[in-house]
Amino acid sequence: MPSVDASSTAPPAPDEAWRLPRTVEPITYRLVLAPDLGSATFAGTAEIDVVVHEATDRVVLNAIELAIDGATVTTADGKVEPAAVALDDDAERATFTFPTTDGAAPLPAGPATLRCSFTGILNDKLRGFYRSTFIDQDGITRTIATTQFESTDARRAFPCWDEPDRKAVFEVTLAVDDGLAAFSNSPIVDETPDPGAPDRRRVRFAPTMKMSTYLVAFVVGPLEATDPVDVDGVPVRVVHAPGKGHLAPYALEVAGHSLRFFSTYFDIPYPADKLDLVAIPDFAFGAMENLGCVTFRETALLVDPASAARTELERVADVVAHEIAHMWFGDLVTMKWWEGIWLNEAFATFMEVLAVDAFRPAWQRWVSFGLEREAALAVDGLRATRPIEYPVGSPEEADGMFDVLTYQKGGSVLRMLEQYLGPDTFRDGVRRYLRAHAYANTVTGDLWQALEEESGEPVRAVMDSWILQGGHPLVGSAGGTVTQRPFAYAPVGADGENAIGEHWEVPVLVRSLDGASDRLLLGPTPLPLPASVRGPNGGGSGGGAPAVVNAGGWGVYRVGYGPEDLTALAGRLDDLGPLERFNLFADTWASVLADQGGLDGFLALAVALDDREDPSTWTVVNAALGLFDRVVAAADRPVVAAAARALLGAAATDLGWEPRPGEGERVPTLRSLLLSSLGTVGADPDVRARAAELFDRSRDGGEAIDPDIEGAVLQAVTAQVRPGDYEAILARYRSPGTPQQELRYLSTLATFPDVDLSLATFDLLLGEVRTQNAPYLLTTLLANRVGGPAVWQRVKEQWAELLDRFPVNSHSRMLDGARTLCGDPDLAADVTRFLTDHPLRSGQRSVVQMLERLAINVAFADRHRDSLGRSLAAVPGAATTG
Ligand SMILES: [Zn+2]
Repeated sequence: MPSVDASSTAPPAPDEAWRLPRTVEPITYRLVLAPDLGSATFAGTAEIDVVVHEATDRVVLNAIELAIDGATVTTADGKVEPAAVALDDDAERATFTFPTTDGAAPLPAGPATLRCSFTGILNDKLRGFYRSTFIDQDGITRTIATTQFESTDARRAFPCWDEPDRKAVFEVTLAVDDGLAAFSNSPIVDETPDPGAPDRRRVRFAPTMKMSTYLVAFVVGPLEATDPVDVDGVPVRVVHAPGKGHLAPYALEVAGHSLRFFSTYFDIPYPADKLDLVAIPDFAFGAMENLGCVTFRETALLVDPASAARTELERVADVVAHEIAHMWFGDLVTMKWWEGIWLNEAFATFMEVLAVDAFRPAWQRWVSFGLEREAALAVDGLRATRPIEYPVGSPEEADGMFDVLTYQKGGSVLRMLEQYLGPDTFRDGVRRYLRAHAYANTVTGDLWQALEEESGEPVRAVMDSWILQGGHPLVGSAGGTVTQRPFAYAPVGADGENAIGEHWEVPVLVRSLDGASDRLLLGPTPLPLPASVRGPNGGGSGGGAPAVVNAGGWGVYRVGYGPEDLTALAGRLDDLGPLERFNLFADTWASVLADQGGLDGFLALAVALDDREDPSTWTVVNAALGLFDRVVAAADRPVVAAAARALLGAAATDLGWEPRPGEGERVPTLRSLLLSSLGTVGADPDVRARAAELFDRSRDGGEAIDPDIEGAVLQAVTAQVRPGDYEAILARYRSPGTPQQELRYLSTLATFPDVDLSLATFDLLLGEVRTQNAPYLLTTLLANRVGGPAVWQRVKEQWAELLDRFPVNSHSRMLDGARTLCGDPDLAADVTRFLTDHPLRSGQRSVVQMLERLAINVAFADRHRDSLGRSLAAVPGAATTG
């Protein structure tokens, strides 16, 4: 159905059924938690100072998977009343009821203190209070108890008002066995012997600032911390499993940079007393912004710069910066309810790129962010997209919001706004917003208001059109006029649901290729191109170069040029900025997938691409080749390979295999991309031979492969399916030097184009592979052109086991690779049928989006299978090198 009218939208109303009554509110929690790592249980007590707003006989709060007993309340006059406790598992609530005497409610309005004790299980589902294990240097399995509470799993660790706007102070005490370290949000105040157990001590932490329950953290285990680094008075440490301290300095450097960067940008000091960055061996997400005690999966924190690819270092920098940005945006100022999570995450995504761009300008982080925006638009052009902000009721719905539309589209929209308002005005508006709402909660409109006050621009009207409806526009430029219409991969309105909006308030920056630029705010009515930027033919049609629409490349929309303009631009690619060039390719490829533009126009661009610096644009060519390889008739596959060699070979030859002195920092990433594509789809014999030689030389502790190209070398090796290579890579996975190597070798096990080896890897992911990694391995396996169909059969057979075993947040992600199962229409139909008949409890929207992408790939195959060989043979060099 058509979405909201952008001119008359109000923030969506939350579903009140999921909200706790506000009769009683928490002020301070005093929590004592005693985890028993051996028995995987914990016991705890909670003493919660509350304020009772109106006299009542009951207190309702959240709890699930807890056994609660011994509940009492102490009223302001010192009376202690026992409570009966009733648990409602479906509602995830506990109700404490107090006996009524003399017909009066036992809890009068005013302050009171609630006490209870409880027990629970340290689960292995990577949420709530859970167990993580690792094997230490002596080969012994060691256990950690740790927490992951966002979105609504604090209630699995202690009874609480588990809603983001029930902020309170937390005073945490952890009772831990001697020899174990303990960490929480704030610094340790004291450590004393546990009166109840001779081999335990009580570690008491300072009171936190007023904050939401989802930000509370406890970590207990045989862990080590680095010496603190002083960052303008804030002690920063990395906490890790023993023996990994040498992998911590890089994260400490990024953290120091980020803390200073954000303190300056926000003009507010870091809001906590210390910052621990904690590497957890089993972790469902990338990282979690618990105030002062940020938890990470190891690959996102621990890294050895000497053996890491640049992209792996960038990933650590991104995640560390992202989480530290949350200390202000999210932790200090927090959304009222879960539909506001987009702002939390979109803003942290935006700030992460801003901070990392300042950390390593040569990485051109805003250029590579174009790839992330493209990943978002690839979903946002689907009928099954959603508005960035939409009403959220149940916990499952809240969990379903952590997707590419929240993070990458949201971050892209904020970047567009920042560039439109000007970076200084935007920053000043953000400062105003944070100052006004510190320690409190907000709705999205509060940020727009602060930005309006700072800029005088109609921020809310513009942003509502981007936030409260799905989709994005296709901006057309022809005959001196710019217009907009919704972009969609498949016709909208014909059948089924459609979440794509009708029009947007589009900030458009245009420029002529010779430098003049101008800005427009494009609504539903077409606008003339400013005379200053028009080409010689009044808008570009004909022989002259057209005006560049989306100049600078930060607009969240696609641009449609006519065929003649496209040809003219193909001849002026060097006059485009890297992000403009990337967008031109991405938008043109999207128009091919949407059946709105011809394949020949895209191939003409690909032939003209001569970039030797920026990998982004090449990834579009690479993705197109990958799809050709899947859908082409078997007899024509050599033509795809020849076209790949013709399109990529010259650049790869120029760049060679070795880094050259003084080359740009992104060149190794481009080298890797070209070699990987040539070694796989391109079936390039020289690349495969050289890769095999490098791999063989690296065996048995031999010469290490340059980490920037190791991924490409492994791809080119597995493509050959040589005897013994699978076992060799499996052995490397089992004894890695760093978390990045472990992941690199693991994912390589899913890329052998061989059915038996694919199924062997499937068995691994149901066995020894950590459940934090297995879902992502599965998605790579499903995307294996040769093994994917057999793996799909196993997915169906072991569906219940997969769902039970893997963390809930990864269920839709493990299926993402199925969108490439487009070579056989019957198989695609089977995938669609099965996943429609077996909907996920959380994340089904992402599954529906994946199925729509599968259908788009199948439709592409239908249209092009018969002619693809001819089209590709026309690529210069492809016909003769086949
Ligand atoms: Zn985040």
